[in-house]
Amino acid sequence: MSKPKLTLLGAPGAGKGTQSSNLVEEYDIDHITTGDALRNNKDMETEYGTPREYMEAGELVPDPVVDEIVEAALADADGFVLDGYPRNLSQAEHLESITDLDAVVYFEVSEDELLTRLTGRRVCDNCGTNYHVEYNPPEEEGICDECGSDLIQRDDDTEETAKERLRVFEENTMPVVEYFEDTDSFVTVDGEQAPDEVWADLCDAVEAQF
Ligand code: ADP
Ligand code: AMP
Repeated sequence: MSKPKLTLLGAPGAGKGTQSSNLVEEYDIDHITTGDALRNNKDMETEYGTPREYMEAGELVPDPVVDEIVEAALADADGFVLDGYPRNLSQAEHLESITDLDAVVYFEVSEDELLTRLTGRRVCDNCGTNYHVEYNPPEEEGICDECGSDLIQRDDDTEETAKERLRVFEENTMPVVEYFEDTDSFVTVDGEQAPDEVWADLCDAVEAQF
């Protein structure tokens, strides 16, 4: 049986990474996250400079760099959840030219909540497990429950850069939401709810589309 092909749209901090992990476990699909792929290759030289310059400023990395990462990952995937792509209309068109999606899920979350989530996010430096200082703290402060490594705050989760990323989302990615809104594969989920409630709605949405 074929596996679901999904993309999660939502502002930075909307819960895409958190819910992607649930989807991977439930459906045994690949998690394709452009943010992680770029963070692992921050100093890669490209004709546009390095990803680092864009990421530290909260701006989008140029399309050709990101499109190539996604195209390579999709070629190897039998079912996937895309997290953080597409982020502008050109990427959306590129994606549609290389695959068919079963569902495009948009997590709707208010700006105040997004800022609280981003500035409180902590990530394991070793295994990438995601925490929040208030909403989802580790058992021991600053230490990953899963592997015992240190938790870090991402460079771009400071208030100033987070605000810029939210602006970039409104300008570039909201048009993508509007682009998919009228298609049969589009579903909105209330991402402001508690994680297990978001997960329940997401499951229903995927089951209905797939
Ligand atoms: P994204 O991948 O969309 O940027 P994350 O999944 O990394 O977002 O979530 C951002 C932060 O908010 C993390 O610290 C995470 O633990 C927390 N978080 C995720 N979903 C929820 C939720 N439904 N309610 C409260 N906090 C959440
Ligand atoms: P994320 O981990 O999804 O919050 O992404 C972190 C940063 O990586 C973003 O602020 C961008 O600089 C870059 N990035 C991630 N995905 C994309 C994308 N699809 N297009 C361009 N830049 C991206």
